[in-house]
Amino acid sequence: MAAESNGKSTKIPEIKFTKLFINGNFVDSVSGKTFETIDPRTEQVIARIAEGDKEDIDIAVKAARAAFDHGPWPRLPACERGRIMMKFADLIEENVEELAALDTIDAGKLFAFGKALEIPSAVSTLRYYAGAADKVHGNTLKMSREFQAYTLREPIGVAGIIIPWNFPSIMFFYKVSPALAAGCTMIVKPAEQTPLSALYFAHLAKLAGIPDGVLNVVTGFGPTAGAAISSHMDIDKVDFTGSTEVGRLVMQAAALSNLKSVSLELGGKSPLLIFDDADVDTAADLALFGGFYNKGEICVASSRIFVQEGIHDKIVEKLSEKAKNWVIGDPFDPSTRHGPQVDQNQFKKILGYIEHGKREGAHLLTGGKTHGEKGYYIEPTIFTNVEDHMMIAKDEIFGPVLSVMKFSTIEEAITRANATRYGLAAGIVTKDLNVANTVSRSIRAGVIWINCYTAFSPDCPYGGYKMSGFGRELGMEAMDKYLQVKAVVTPLVNS
Ligand code: ADP
Repeated sequence: MAAESNGKSTKIPEIKFTKLFINGNFVDSVSGKTFETIDPRTEQVIARIAEGDKEDIDIAVKAARAAFDHGPWPRLPACERGRIMMKFADLIEENVEELAALDTIDAGKLFAFGKALEIPSAVSTLRYYAGAADKVHGNTLKMSREFQAYTLREPIGVAGIIIPWNFPSIMFFYKVSPALAAGCTMIVKPAEQTPLSALYFAHLAKLAGIPDGVLNVVTGFGPTAGAAISSHMDIDKVDFTGSTEVGRLVMQAAALSNLKSVSLELGGKSPLLIFDDADVDTAADLALFGGFYNKGEICVASSRIFVQEGIHDKIVEKLSEKAKNWVIGDPFDPSTRHGPQVDQNQFKKILGYIEHGKREGAHLLTGGKTHGEKGYYIEPTIFTNVEDHMMIAKDEIFGPVLSVMKFSTIEEAITRANATRYGLAAGIVTKDLNVANTVSRSIRAGVIWINCYTAFSPDCPYGGYKMSGFGRELGMEAMDKYLQVKAVVTPLVNS
């Protein structure tokens, strides 16, 4: 990795991979076109990346189809797939610094977190599913007096995987790992803002011994390369993480083409409920971490903080005090907790919401402004006196903007927390087990964190209720997305 020093601990990795990865080779796009990927710290171009489109997706699908129909991957003993996946995981671990640095320059993510948490989390996800590969089995069914059956769980086929820019490495492995374990072949389309680490992973996959055609990476834009995946006649499954608006398009395209299986992990407007008996310090830390982690660019962000009236003022005071610790600056600097937003679009969109919040009459407690002369930096922003009907309380902002609201009873908190089209996650801060149990069973969301927030692990599934999507990431549940069940029936007595 080439190191560069600007007085801080800045490490700029050399960009080694910029082309599409199809059938085991790095290739130019058919059109020869490229697009720029931008460093959100500086607004400068990092590299030009091959721009894949429909023709490139077609070529990648042909390779993935051949690898599925005739290649070794789905036919290998499952433990052998697991062994190769373990090797892939080891190679990622050996390159952790370089990979974390790629996500830092591409997405403005904290380098220290990438190195210590996010790339290791991608590795442990891959290892979890490497171990799961040979634990997939069906059932034996008695049926009736005349027949018996057994079920086989077979790989679904060629998968199209469309991922967002907020966690380029983690999202890649949340989807690719169970797909590989199941014996599928795949085409991954990373977000156009963050193509760098995905191409590096493709290179490591080949070194690990994943056969050509099994894992293809086509970089490009959503309405072209992404749409070519969701509408393709020879892709068996599309697994998408991104906005609810685009999720709807993906599902529509799947329905209008070959009715491919669809799973969607979409937006959220997740509530964190802080009850009167909560420890003020802990609750404020959870609210800030839940809302500002990764500059609020996280689908489970605790963007609605409901605080019970008895503790409300103390929490607001503590939030204001602690928000100052969210040091904003270069994400390579180890003292930084808050880097730049991913790109200019997001930057402008978030600032627009902040202006809206002010106009709607919410009280700006902290932040609200941009930071520095260059780069897409926005201060961690907290609004209080927010009302449920305000746009900042309803829309997914996908940035560092928290809305604090006051409530009096548990029933009120549950009703208001559920009054959203989303249902991805929720948090509860209380010492009262009855409150925790009642609220966790009443909130319609795919994951509930009690006295913690954003606690993830490869064995714990999460995903959406309502318009946050369907299908689950992680856990053995995620294997189901890449498998289909075949029943094999035989007569008990041959006539
Ligand atoms: P965001 O709005 O947060 O950028 P998107 O939902 O637009 O999130 O993007 C998530 C992923 O979906 C990206 O890889 C993007 O390129 C892709 N995408 C965007 N539009 C489409 C589309 N029409 N069809 C398929 N994929 C798309």
